[in-house]
Amino acid sequence: MLDIEKIYKESGALLEGHFLLSSGKHSPNYLQSAKVLENPKRAEELAKELAKQIQASGLQIDTVCSPAIGGLLAGYELARALGVRFIFTERKEGQMTLRRGFEVRPGEKVLICEDIITTGGSAMEAAKEIQKRGGEVVGFAALANRGVCQRVGAKTPSKPECKLPADKPLFALADFSFPIYEPAECPLCQAGSEPIKPGSRGN
Ligand code: ZN
Repeated sequence: MLDIEKIYKESGALLEGHFLLSSGKHSPNYLQSAKVLENPKRAEELAKELAKQIQASGLQIDTVCSPAIGGLLAGYELARALGVRFIFTERKEGQMTLRRGFEVRPGEKVLICEDIITTGGSAMEAAKEIQKRGGEVVGFAALANRGVCQRVGAKTPSKPECKLPADKPLFALADFSFPIYEPAECPLCQAGSEPIKPGSRGN
């Protein structure tokens, strides 16, 4: 079994500080999966490990679909490890859509793959687009899970913020349950520091 936390740490992908998350909340930690996946060998190892878990469940999958940009590398490597097709959705005027001539046949069994699942918002947008095209979303996958949604094999139940359907499995290699604060209650803000938006200032 791969030690995911160690891999993220060694890749400089597990950031420590004071971060403004896309949800508007603050956290002392941030996962930057792109730093792990910049090493193709490592990306391949992680995807193989995730594929093993999915294959062991017996879930039938025809295609992996990822929401761009975050899920692309993880999804592509996972599709390679599973030996299936890979497609992606992307935002056009804010709407998650399937473009570039990608097609979904009726009843095609699609697994939605992200790099990290927090509440599963983008994953659900991709799932809805697949369903609209006649595909069947059979489950979700991510390299890392923030512990808001319950993954297969974990005991902690999903929190109310989780947007993924309870009747579909979520496969992930590890849970990273970091503290998340409302801005008004953030102890880091109270200590006088300013949160950084990940992606800006070189992170
Ligand atoms: Zn703060």
